[in-house]
Amino acid sequence: MVKKLQQENYTMKCAICKNGQTIGGHITVVLERGESTLVFKNVPAQVCENCGEEYLSENTNHTLLQKAEDAFIRGVDLELLRFAA
Ligand SMILES: [Zn+2]
Repeated sequence: MVKKLQQENYTMKCAICKNGQTIGGHITVVLERGESTLVFKNVPAQVCENCGEEYLSENTNHTLLQKAEDAFIRGVDLELLRFAA
């Protein structure tokens, strides 16, 4: 699971490798619950340039989980979702 981040576009030192700096970008996040798999494309995130660890902001994380909840309730098998903030 991706790490949480306080602010969007906030460059920080990576908490995992403690070497790299994070850079803003977009990632793909996969969430699974029971039989359902959700794939979110184009999620704004900070990614460590060194080890590739991904960090999501509190806001993004919240929106992501909300969208996921909708899909999980609908009981989808596999859904591809485009993230829009
Ligand atoms: Zn790192």
